[in-house]
Amino acid sequence: MSKDKPRRRTKVVQAGIGADPAHHAVIPPLYFSSTYEIPGIGEHLPYEYSRTRNPSRDMLAEAVTKLEEGLGACVVSSGMAALTLIVHLLDPEDLLIAPFDCYGRSYRMLKELANKGHFRLKFVDQYSPEGIEEAFTEEPKIVLIESPSNPVMRIADIKAIAAKAKAVGAITVADNTFLSPILQQPLNLGADIVYHSTTKFLNGHSDIVGGCVVTNNEDILTDLEFWNNSLGLIGAPFDSYMTLRGMRTLELRVHRAQENAEKIAEMLAEHDAVDKVYYPGLKDHPNHEIAAAQQEGFGAMLSFTIKGNFENVKTFAKNVEIFRLAQSLGGTESLMNHPATMTHVSMGAEAREKAGVSDQLLRLSVGVEHIDDLLDDLRQGLEAIG
Ligand SMILES: *Cc1c(COP(=O)(O)O)cnc(C)c1O
Repeated sequence: MSKDKPRRRTKVVQAGIGADPAHHAVIPPLYFSSTYEIPGIGEHLPYEYSRTRNPSRDMLAEAVTKLEEGLGACVVSSGMAALTLIVHLLDPEDLLIAPFDCYGRSYRMLKELANKGHFRLKFVDQYSPEGIEEAFTEEPKIVLIESPSNPVMRIADIKAIAAKAKAVGAITVADNTFLSPILQQPLNLGADIVYHSTTKFLNGHSDIVGGCVVTNNEDILTDLEFWNNSLGLIGAPFDSYMTLRGMRTLELRVHRAQENAEKIAEMLAEHDAVDKVYYPGLKDHPNHEIAAAQQEGFGAMLSFTIKGNFENVKTFAKNVEIFRLAQSLGGTESLMNHPATMTHVSMGAEAREKAGVSDQLLRLSVGVEHIDDLLDDLRQGLEAIG
């Protein structure tokens, strides 16, 4: 079969299927054992101890590698563990540049580790050519990208940034949690590493916490595998099994949720109680063109602000039923998040304001429910504001 075959959906549906050597189980078995018997002293087998390698974890690593079109992957215990693993590629004198509006907990962790002297850190604006120019005034070792950004959906030009990074010998890292490899493949745009909170779209059922790091560079993969084993950041076999199970329907889920999100963005943009809608699929989104060029769709995440005061936001939240007020995203069920008091608290008020996270802002993770029920639910909340 040619390089593009089998197609992505087939790859993930088929991952590990029929690979059981013991009993020819169609669905791959789950290996819980922490240790494996070796045939004799001085002899080695691929599996000896589960921190180092585990078949269930390897099967997930192989599937995410295929989806992102990388060379290999490390499966870890959370999205934060993925970033923890990546920053271990840095020495204390190395500079990491990260978006000023990155995921709240990533922002906090990077800041605290830099304060402890683990590496040097600069938060930058990657969303304009001038911003990118300014970001590279000092040569970084790692350039972190998160596109679309959380929660106001700014789009970074991954190709342009990765090209600049390559020119100074820096590693480009992309957090691809918001889109999944179905809608964006950063390695094909020039990034060296792509990572996910698999808690979100990849697992897709809001019932495990996990992460993965994929690369297309052999040396980087060797380093990442060394640190994953040494630090013990590894994902559990059961979580790996669940994530692979969830990933078999990734494309179906992502496409349905995205279809719903497009219709919701259009409805909100027209509604009198709504001030601004942040969705890269809308023509008036400032980075709509870049999103259209580098993504295969605009995704299932969007944010919007409600007109008036904070009471209106509370009234809206009390009057919707299907969109539950909860952290997290990327599940089959629709969720709503108030970043200023939930996901982005740890950022602090000043950084929040700079990142455009106002008290009037709500973020939606659109699920796969019937679109008419979702639209009715949101209209019910907006109409309650009066
Ligand atoms: C959730 C999330 C993370 C962190 O992942 P966990 O699995 O919660 O540790 C990192 N980046 C983005 C964009 C996220 O949404």
